[in-house]
Amino acid sequence: MLDTAKISLALTALAIATPALSEEVNLYSYRQPELLKPLTDAFTKETGIAVNVAYLQKGMVERLQAEGARSPADLIFTVDISRLSAAVQAGLTQPITSETLMANVPDIYHDPEGHWWGLTTRARIIYASKERVAEGEVTTYEDLADPKWKGRICTRSGTNAYNVALTSAVIHHHGEEGAKAWLEGVKANLARKPQGNDRAQVKAIWAGECDIAIGNTYYMGQMLADPEQAAWAESVDIVFPTFEGAGTHVNISGVAMTKAAPNKDNALKMMEFLTSPTAQEIYAKANFEYPIAKGTEVDPLVAGWGSFEADSVNLMALARLRNAALKLTETVDFDG
Ligand code: FE
Repeated sequence: MLDTAKISLALTALAIATPALSEEVNLYSYRQPELLKPLTDAFTKETGIAVNVAYLQKGMVERLQAEGARSPADLIFTVDISRLSAAVQAGLTQPITSETLMANVPDIYHDPEGHWWGLTTRARIIYASKERVAEGEVTTYEDLADPKWKGRICTRSGTNAYNVALTSAVIHHHGEEGAKAWLEGVKANLARKPQGNDRAQVKAIWAGECDIAIGNTYYMGQMLADPEQAAWAESVDIVFPTFEGAGTHVNISGVAMTKAAPNKDNALKMMEFLTSPTAQEIYAKANFEYPIAKGTEVDPLVAGWGSFEADSVNLMALARLRNAALKLTETVDFDG
């Protein structure tokens, strides 16, 4: 009799506990655990909603397609506008309307229809040798095609997503013919065939192979934090180039809600939390990026690199030019 009562009591406790345990949200992420963990912990602490994350290296779109309506994923996290828009194009996301998101995320950094939302920005900038490049010698993206840089530029593959987005921006500002001429000009200035990642280009400057390189801002922070790479970082200055008559090219990391989201309310809570000033500063600081929401502070290290005016193009416009940019890159045999 006593045992039965005990069991009954235990079952009651379990029944009470269950609703709380079922409050969860599921993430598929291309972003690394060390970037998301501080955020997901802060979210759980604030809301009591558990966060489950599947960290993926590739194949997110294919996985969501294969899982269809049974997918456990509520939110997808990735960098680069073309990856976000690829998920939208594949019909895997749903539009979100939220006053909080609209208030926090500037219009150029979210889908007008609400399918994707930017969370942080990064500028694609020029790393310039402290020893061999004078201040003011390179100030625009157009400059990179100037023959004065012959044999002095390093970059990763032209087909890499970051460079495709930059080339899309060149098309946006100069048209396809202008962008073709620019790509040919930059290619003619390369010190070596495109290879390696962004940091490998800075290493090449440090080693004397080239004088300027194209790369994302946050790699400066990553290199400085790595004892083996700090010397590479210290051999260069950061230059925020602009397009002639416009601003500096930026790309985003962002989030989208899946079409099949089983925990829609919690997912929306998480999206709104991610654009709050507290979360924004945690997220941006974790990878030396720029917070996207108004009224948020840039990490002092990142602020020390200088300020810039971001290009005002809506990233959606760049996503639409992605295929054209890729085709031009192949036409001029940029990597060849
Ligand atoms: Fe990166």
